[in-house]
Amino acid sequence: MSILITGGAGYIGSVTVEGLRTNGETPVVIDNLVCGHRAAVDADVSFHKGNIGDSDLVRRIIEQHQIEAVMHFSAYAYVGESVADPGKYFENNVAETLRLLNVLAESGVDKFVFSSTCATYGEPEYMPIDEDHPQKPANPYGWSKLFVERILESFDVAHGIRSVSLRYFNAAGATEKHGEHHEPETHLIPLVLAAAKGERPDVKIFGTDYPTDDGTAVRDYIHVSDLSRAHILALEYLRAGGRTDAFNLGNGNGYSVRQVIQAAEGVTDRKITAVEDKKRPGDPSILVANAAKAREVLEWEPAVKDIEEIIESAWRWHQAHPQGYADSRA
Ligand code: UDP
Repeated sequence: MSILITGGAGYIGSVTVEGLRTNGETPVVIDNLVCGHRAAVDADVSFHKGNIGDSDLVRRIIEQHQIEAVMHFSAYAYVGESVADPGKYFENNVAETLRLLNVLAESGVDKFVFSSTCATYGEPEYMPIDEDHPQKPANPYGWSKLFVERILESFDVAHGIRSVSLRYFNAAGATEKHGEHHEPETHLIPLVLAAAKGERPDVKIFGTDYPTDDGTAVRDYIHVSDLSRAHILALEYLRAGGRTDAFNLGNGNGYSVRQVIQAAEGVTDRKITAVEDKKRPGDPSILVANAAKAREVLEWEPAVKDIEEIIESAWRWHQAHPQGYADSRA
């Protein structure tokens, strides 16, 4: 039996493929390579280039590889773009997922691990955020993920597909082999490291008058390997008969933009020029997870707790792969 990984050529998907293989599982990847990189998937992993909404392709993969469960990473994930072009997000993140789920229902694949997000909560009403926090997304990206959570609940009732929705906070860091390569890059840590390398003149600080200690926004950065491990624990939970549920994944520690930049200066031993800029629309001031439920139910314990270690791992990967996965195309 194999595990189908949608978006396995993307950032978190590729690290999870690596983790599954270390655990003796057989991952099979489907990715249309719109955001993913072929080089992020090892040559000896079964790879199918295509859309998750291509029902004939998905049926063939399920049959050929005897798919036991699906981990669903593939999605568009730029908040700003989702505001400008919501149709693109609802089509790709919701409609395509629905097509995938219909095939799973018809094929009897009954275990599903879903990449959800803290963006389903919207503007926080209290901190740290637990799973009972109201879900009122502030943008179409967050709505697209919340819609899928609700669809999954209905598909459990109707078709017996049990699922775990993992609500990530800020994924960051790298393994030796797999790291973060987005085009365009919008995430803080890779942009800070690009500034450290001199590829960018500076890093912009989006907003300096937030109600935080230093006025910059606070986020909960979680190492991508810890996210990968949570997926494997979620699979084991479903195999053991666990019921459909959602879990936050974060460290429970908040770091401000200025603290991230300072930590990166320490890790890289380079000066990073920071330029104060205006707020990015829709950015909440503080997002920190209460991940007690994942610890209790999934027995998940993040191994990487401090921001220096997370940045250090990303720095090593970026130095080893100066062009990201583009290096491997050469
Ligand atoms: N941020 C920033 N400058 C940048 C990119 C991000 O100040 O060039 C801030 C952003 O406003 C947020 C935090 O850094 O408060 C993390 O942003 P990122 O895009 O990495 O993740 P998000 O929290 O949006 O998922």
